[in-house]
Amino acid sequence: MRKISPLPGPVAECCAALRRAGFSAYPVGGGVRDLLLGRIPQDWDVATSALPDQVLALFPGAAPTGLPHGTVTLPADSGPIEVTTFRREMGYSDGRRPDGVSFGVSLEEDLARRDFTVNAMALAPDGSVIDPFGGLGDLEAGVLRCVGDPVQRFSEDRLRLFRALRFAAQLGFALDASVAEALARAPSTAPLAAERVGAEVEKTLCSPRPAWVGEMLRLGLLIPWLGDARADTAPLAALPAQPLPRWAGLAALVDNGALPEKLRRPGAVSRAVAAGLDLLHAGLPEDERQWRHALARHGPDCCRSAASMAMALGDEEPGHVLESTLAAHPCLTAKNLALSGGDLAALGLSGPDIGKAQARLLEYVLDRPEDNHQEVLRALLDRLFPQDGD
Ligand code: ATP
Ligand code: MG
Repeated sequence: MRKISPLPGPVAECCAALRRAGFSAYPVGGGVRDLLLGRIPQDWDVATSALPDQVLALFPGAAPTGLPHGTVTLPADSGPIEVTTFRREMGYSDGRRPDGVSFGVSLEEDLARRDFTVNAMALAPDGSVIDPFGGLGDLEAGVLRCVGDPVQRFSEDRLRLFRALRFAAQLGFALDASVAEALARAPSTAPLAAERVGAEVEKTLCSPRPAWVGEMLRLGLLIPWLGDARADTAPLAALPAQPLPRWAGLAALVDNGALPEKLRRPGAVSRAVAAGLDLLHAGLPEDERQWRHALARHGPDCCRSAASMAMALGDEEPGHVLESTLAAHPCLTAKNLALSGGDLAALGLSGPDIGKAQARLLEYVLDRPEDNHQEVLRALLDRLFPQDGD
């Protein structure tokens, strides 16, 4: 059997401590898959015969992150380790989570509840791979196949529909024909929590193959949140693989600035995408001077978002002009004026006049960034606010 190494120290130590205490423990799931693929896992999963209370008693730093499902999380340098008691899932009546779980089952049963064969492998203490569903073969062939009947597995938990396309995007795997067929007959995704869908869409967007999001649209998986939107998502791959530009690009392609907010993405991204689409519709700045004013008014995230939108729609120019504008580190706020609020007070201004003067000076400097010097601004100030007796 194929052997792999090395396991990150904290993961090996976690399993060893559980075994010393008389339990069985195995790294499982995405960590094993990524290790076999030579990818660096972001987080690790350990499956164990120990009950959650026993895991908590063994690791003082552990947090009870999902006790009803048997999950306890250990913080570690190699990424958080989720330690989950071997479990079987009982009935799925709501299409998004099991009605209950029962502990006290074998490792093989625990692996059987997992979504895809490549996610259903464990590492034995001797380093060999425990692979009851042919995950290794699928990993080598680059094929995503469900554990069990895909139609049933997708209807149990609709998030698996998104996960299938997300893994295809991240790993560059092909969908097994049975998976593609089950996706084409996908049950409604309406029972799912927007936030979990948003997280899967974001992982897909930020992968090397973001165009797979187009497949989510084509299959109607996003209808509950976006209506029946469709788009050619190929242009997304040209944008930086980060949440803001990729969400912005998608929002432009479907002409819906509320997209990240609907899918419960963090406020900063949601606001920047909504404001970015407004800026795009209002007409993008055409030169560096106009971009400086837009940056001062709307902030860099909104401007970057709008430039990413233009690029997704086939116009690269705004992005280049915005980047060259930013590269010059222009003064965009009153805080960065060569004359501070304190300087203005020392020059005899007080109260609301200070704010007014800063606003005027900033407008001036946005037009002429090379003039952000004390002497130039003082001369300008003398003209704007002539002192008595001048
Ligand atoms: P990544 O962490 O890279 O996003 P992953 O495969 O590790 O991908 P996690 O969400 O961390 O995904 O889940 C860990 C493991 O738990 C999976 O590899 C899989 O075995 C199992 N799993 C997670 N979500 C589901 C699900 N919805 N249905 C069945 N099994 C699941
Ligand atoms: Mg994981």
